[in-house]
Amino acid sequence: MTFPSDATPMAAGGAGPSGGRLTCGAGWLARARRRVGGRCAVCRGWCAGDLCGHCASRFALARPRCSGCALALPVADATVDTTCPRCRRAPPPWSRAVAGVDYGYPWDRLLADFKFHQRLDVVDALLQPLLARLQDMRGSGLRVVSVPLSRERLRERGYNQSWELARRLARALALDARADTLLRVRDTGHQLGLQRGARQANLQGAFVVTPRHAAWVRGARIALVDDVLTTGATARAATHTLRAAGACEVQVWTVARTPEA
Ligand SMILES: [Zn+2]
Ligand SMILES: [Zn+2]
Repeated sequence: MTFPSDATPMAAGGAGPSGGRLTCGAGWLARARRRVGGRCAVCRGWCAGDLCGHCASRFALARPRCSGCALALPVADATVDTTCPRCRRAPPPWSRAVAGVDYGYPWDRLLADFKFHQRLDVVDALLQPLLARLQDMRGSGLRVVSVPLSRERLRERGYNQSWELARRLARALALDARADTLLRVRDTGHQLGLQRGARQANLQGAFVVTPRHAAWVRGARIALVDDVLTTGATARAATHTLRAAGACEVQVWTVARTPEA
């Protein structure tokens, strides 16, 4: 997989509320690794890209997924995404959900390294399965938006992992992306441990579209990027906010999908 190496203007700034203080170093490292090869993010074996062929075929096999909830489907043909009965009965507010892999080994570990241990060098490996599914979106004109962190969480972490994913996806797919299109106006605390209904209620009114990006959102087709899709409560709240601001379509793109228990 190749990524154009030029940083987007947003990415180069890195000083906005989405953070990005680590991106310069990570960008340099990623470029160097593309030139000389590097180590597989999963098995640490030497390889040409970010994921060796063995790990890609073992952990990143394309599975058919529901285009509504991105859950894996029990269908033999992995090239066709279709809709599960539940999403046909109660369609989600977005037009399409795309996830690269199931949330589980080794992706859970890589995502934790990326989110909590400032390992931005694993981002390209995390994005590889998702990008493989999004090739039909290249140059499609979708505008890429990330799920925002609260100000407090951003201060703790120093960067917004969703924006780090979003800006790389946009660059690889020749799409426009803007940091801080959505703002989290209320710190909703940790969603973990809350039931589906409680999560949804907890997120009501959590997001707004930043006034300076309102015209960019109005009438646009939007791709909303996050790291993991679990109950969908966050994506649902953000989608409602974007649609209320005039977006004509919202797709949800995530690295991983939590399988149902
Ligand atoms: Zn490997
Ligand atoms: Zn579904």
